[in-house]
Amino acid sequence: MIGFPQAVRPGLTTLGPQWNAARSTHHRIAWLARESSKPARSQVERWTVQASPQWSLEHLKDDPARVQAKLLRAFSEVTGIRATPSQIEIRRWTHARTMMPLGQSALWDDDAQLGLCGDWCLGHRLEDAFISGLELALAAIDVAHSNKAFS
Ligand SMILES: Cc1cc2nc3c(=O)[nH]c(=O)nc-3n(C[C@H](O)[C@H](O)[C@H](O)COP(=O)(O)OP(=O)(O)OC[C@H]3O[C@@H](n4cnc5c(N)ncnc54)[C@H](O)[C@@H]3O)c2cc1C
Repeated sequence: MIGFPQAVRPGLTTLGPQWNAARSTHHRIAWLARESSKPARSQVERWTVQASPQWSLEHLKDDPARVQAKLLRAFSEVTGIRATPSQIEIRRWTHARTMMPLGQSALWDDDAQLGLCGDWCLGHRLEDAFISGLELALAAIDVAHSNKAFS
């Protein structure tokens, strides 16, 4: 996570590229998002950068300062932003992704009247969690009304 509060200037709305999010084919970086482009966020230029799973695995035990420097260099290469961020934070986020999703939106045990949902059912993103929860809720309502088994 990096921020450039020093870059907030009248008339300068963004720093660097004219896009706000991207999947990247750079070997170190998989995903970037300009946080300041999201609704109701502050104007301060801030980016979240996610390292690629492969590169993360290869560098899991590296010194955090070294990882930070390498990711920052990769960020500059992808975005063209050469400025030094005055805010920077790095997290080693293990178990970040579902490796093998369940493949169905939710689980329902009719006997126990118990359901399971979550991003892991369909993937690893917020949309997956949302759809999973919604589908389970709709199915549970359906079961309550008709007393049919969940499928
Ligand atoms: C740092 C970070 C950044 C992310 N950024 C993005 C992004 O930009 N876009 C995107 O789409 N996705 C992003 N994600 C992924 C997204 O947050 C998840 O896909 C989503 O939150 C999954 O929702 P969920 O309801 O399935 O699980 P969770 O949000 O993990 O909710 C599970 C809940 O269960 C609770 N819990 C666990 N065990 C128990 C227990 N035994 N008893 C009671 N409660 C329990 C937990 O405290 C938690 O509140 C990010 C995730 C992280 C960690």
